[in-house]
Amino acid sequence: MTPHAFNIYSNNNQRSLAIRAVLIDKLQYRALQVNQDPRPDADLNICIGGDGSFLRAVHSSGFSQVPFVGINTGHLGFYQEILVSEIDSFIDQFIHGEYINTELGLLSGRIAHGDSSQELFALNEFVVRTQNSTIAHMEVYVDDYHLENFAGDGLIVSTPSGSTAYNFSVGGSVLYQTMKGFQMVPIAPINSRAYRSLLNPLVMPNTTKLRLVPTPREGDNILVIADGINLDFKEIEYIEFTFGKKHINRIVFNPMWYWINIKDKFL
Ligand code: NAD
Repeated sequence: MTPHAFNIYSNNNQRSLAIRAVLIDKLQYRALQVNQDPRPDADLNICIGGDGSFLRAVHSSGFSQVPFVGINTGHLGFYQEILVSEIDSFIDQFIHGEYINTELGLLSGRIAHGDSSQELFALNEFVVRTQNSTIAHMEVYVDDYHLENFAGDGLIVSTPSGSTAYNFSVGGSVLYQTMKGFQMVPIAPINSRAYRSLLNPLVMPNTTKLRLVPTPREGDNILVIADGINLDFKEIEYIEFTFGKKHINRIVFNPMWYWINIKDKFL
């Protein structure tokens, strides 16, 4: 059997740290390698915590191509299949290759600001809203075609795997996590005599380029949030979203895991 090496990510709560210590003992007992710091040649990234910890691990790894798995120490987690009581069987199944790899597509958000632009990625979603909670005004373009002048609290652009997160809370559609597409969903859109904003989620294929252009006087007041992380940009000219240029790998042991999660969380 080939040797295996593991990267371990954990949040700092006491329970997660205690489980991290137990996990390291169990891996070392089986003569498996635990990297002191995460390495790109590891066989698995193990994230201990809840969905937020999983998201932070994915970001801090630089969207590593090493497969991810989550051990759940919080409430039910959409990215965290392994329960603490299942750690032994998880290690055994992993080293025997008894798992399925799922590719989770990432959203790219290119933010043009001042004289430059920067491309960032998200696993769940980008949220675009105003910094001071005033009405956000944005022009929405789909493949360079002007679709609407949005007015409302903001817009969420979500991946399929993020569709059960913030997107779900504002009435977005649930998209199966490995689907090749993404969606835009409005937060409190205004539809009145003065404003015409689309009230529904809009699901787009992965070939679509979606551009949000804040009205010029608002460029400084726009806040972009990627997977819960506030991004600090001034003078935003536009944000352009595309899907699927990059992905992460997440391994799953129970093929029905996704549907179990949906039922458990929402029904
Ligand atoms: P966190 O672990 O506290 O996550 C917040 C909540 O979102 C948890 O209940 C978590 O289980 C859930 N969640 C995260 N990703 C999910 C997914 N893909 N499917 C289903 N549920 C998911 O940590 P955090 O750092 O605050 O997490 C950031 C995420 O929180 C954001 O990406 C956003 O999706 C979510 N969020 C949700 C709301 C809302 O529902 N009103 C508001 C803000 C942020």
